[in-house]
Amino acid sequence: MKTLLIGGKWLGAIDGETIDVIDPSDGMAFAKISRGRAADVQQAVSAAQDALQGEWGSKTATERGRILQRLGQGILDHAEELAAIEAQDTGKPISAARADARAVARYFEFYGGAADKVHGQTIPYLDGYNVSVVRVPHGVTAHIIPWNYPAQMMGRTLAPALAMGNAAVLKPSEDACLSVIRIAELAMEAGLPPGALNLVTGYGAEAGAALTSNPGIHFATFTGSPEAGALVQQATAANHVPCVLELGGKSPQIVFDDADLDKAVPAVVKAIVQNAGQTCSAGSRLLVQQGIYDRFVGMVAQAFRALQAGVPAADLDCGPIVSERQYRRVMGLVEAARDSGVPVIAEGGFAADLPRGGYFVRPVLFGPVPRDHALANIEVFGPVLSVMPFTDEEDAIRLANATDYGLVAGVWTENGSRQMRVSQRLQSGQVFINCYGAGGGVELPFGGVKKSGYGREKGFLALEEMSTTKTIVQHYQ
Ligand code: NAD
Repeated sequence: MKTLLIGGKWLGAIDGETIDVIDPSDGMAFAKISRGRAADVQQAVSAAQDALQGEWGSKTATERGRILQRLGQGILDHAEELAAIEAQDTGKPISAARADARAVARYFEFYGGAADKVHGQTIPYLDGYNVSVVRVPHGVTAHIIPWNYPAQMMGRTLAPALAMGNAAVLKPSEDACLSVIRIAELAMEAGLPPGALNLVTGYGAEAGAALTSNPGIHFATFTGSPEAGALVQQATAANHVPCVLELGGKSPQIVFDDADLDKAVPAVVKAIVQNAGQTCSAGSRLLVQQGIYDRFVGMVAQAFRALQAGVPAADLDCGPIVSERQYRRVMGLVEAARDSGVPVIAEGGFAADLPRGGYFVRPVLFGPVPRDHALANIEVFGPVLSVMPFTDEEDAIRLANATDYGLVAGVWTENGSRQMRVSQRLQSGQVFINCYGAGGGVELPFGGVKKSGYGREKGFLALEEMSTTKTIVQHYQ
């Protein structure tokens, strides 16, 4: 199996080893990827360095943008194929995989269009001096992405990096990366020069660690667990390389007693059930004001009882969890919560014809969850919603800010002043008022505060993250 893209060529790992790809719907291996390691990573980094000195490095911003836009179109032309690959590899329902394919195309369209719209500055300085500040690429950028949205994450991290003229080395997750491999093929078909994008499949502790510590990289971006994020941070610090980290969250949905409850219920449920809860921005804590607690939680419970988990083709509310390891982790947290006496308010069900060996879990609504319980603080990364009551605005803000994380928050209230008061005091990278997620939003800067990480992806801010500045001082007397 040749799944390493290095200098425009598809190669196997130097030592020939492979990793089985598992279908989470039945636990069976159905494909193989190459197990890249340090020597393969070194070749990829060298190819990226060569690309910067060669054809890719000589492209204008407009030319880079055109290539990215062609790739966006290529992805749209192959959207159904990509959706089928993503659905089998990750287990997500087919309509969600189709939405992901459209979203990844959008990243390349957006940043393709933006590539030649990044302007520098001029600075008034001493008489006889002309000073300009120009944006320049970092050079070789390292990208480590997780398994929950492989295609989307590829677009999110890669499109702005290539738009700014970097040459990239991408290490996707060993648990799901087949769509990434296919999109890399489409990138070559779209005319991306050899070495502008290099792909090294493999394990995090091998290919990932080798990439972040490689002295030839100039920047790294990572999305995944706080534990691996800390290792990336250590490696890049030792390498004197800046990094962007996106490490997940425990995002609150705050529902006040004047909220439009009918509008809030489907959004609250979708925010935790989408992708079987394996979303960094999942709304995994539901904070409900005491006066409407019974009524609103009753409405959410009714919606939970109607949820069903099934295979991707059945296109139900959830698919399976991505891997046996993640399945055991989610089930362990659910069982521990039950054993510790946290009440289960409602549970979803399974489709009748589930295959054996799949990693399916029932969506579950727990509450009231004690404020100091693991379920109130730990990112489960499964379809598990923790409900907690609050008394007033002050209490809601305290509770919302009470975890180590700070990625996304939702505020549900019809009171405009409260919308602003609360959103300004929430410790969070994004706040949604009377909506949640808003369709992903390629245009909207995204990233965390506190232990959710730092740096921003998406929107125009990503173009700043993926580049640096050069100040040019010209004396013209
Ligand atoms: P992980 O952090 O181990 O994996 C994410 C990526 O990092 C993968 O590509 C992996 O190969 C790579 N990686 C792992 N160790 C590395 C290292 N030392 N150096 C460089 N790269 C390395 O995530 P996981 O173990 O698959 O998931 C565990 C938990 O992480 C989940 O339960 C969830 O809480 C969290 N998570 C969050 C996100 C997110 O979007 N924020 C995504 C996936 C997982």
